[in-house]
Amino acid sequence: MSSPALVLDAVEKTYNTGLPNEVKVLRGASLQVAPGEVVAMIAPSGAGKSTLLHIAGLLDTCDAGRVEIAGQDMSARTDKTRTLARRDEIGFVYQFHHLLPEFTALENIVLPQLAAGVPQKEAKDRAMDLLGKVGVQARADHRPGALSGGEQQRVAFCRALANGPSLLLADEPTGNLDPGTSDQVFEALMLLAKDTGLAALIATHNYDLAARMDRTIKLEDGVLV
Ligand code: ADP
Repeated sequence: MSSPALVLDAVEKTYNTGLPNEVKVLRGASLQVAPGEVVAMIAPSGAGKSTLLHIAGLLDTCDAGRVEIAGQDMSARTDKTRTLARRDEIGFVYQFHHLLPEFTALENIVLPQLAAGVPQKEAKDRAMDLLGKVGVQARADHRPGALSGGEQQRVAFCRALANGPSLLLADEPTGNLDPGTSDQVFEALMLLAKDTGLAALIATHNYDLAARMDRTIKLEDGVLV
């Protein structure tokens, strides 16, 4: 059996440790996400959702507990190993698309691949293939400013998947969109995940969308339930 794409084991995180304004955000949060599984994370604002996603995505470290990505314990690894794992295994999508405005949709998906050493032609073919899967192929040569919000976000998904990660972390990826568009974008995301065997942890406030994922967890009082 293949290892989980993501394991969080009793993860703890406190800000301003020892100070009067100490904030204990995570108090032993545990979670496993299997390859191909799409998990919704519901968390009230301030519950520590961003902190948890940053720790899972190796952008921040935890004070105690263990983080495993694709079967590898990342807790005590060097910065270099963590950076490589982040590049090769993890894709991020945020509420705002964060595409580079001066590059086309296609280029935004090609660039991270070139940075990872993929030859130009191969990177371009893969970018086109991903755009096709989410129905934005016809917009490949447009810059983000010329795309609708839903198109921008679908391109952002493609960029997150450009280097074939095993894990996608998303922070309210449809939070900025109207309900109809949000639905379409969500469908595109589910399709990509199921098509690629990607594991995904998706933070959302939307209970309807959460219900359409494989499983829902809640972040409450610093633990996942
Ligand atoms: P969410 O994403 O669920 O809104 P966050 O993970 O951003 O929550 O933050 C959780 C709590 O930790 C909040 O009370 C926030 O003020 C606090 N916090 C977040 N980052 C820091 C930091 N760098 N220093 C101090 N407190 C922080």
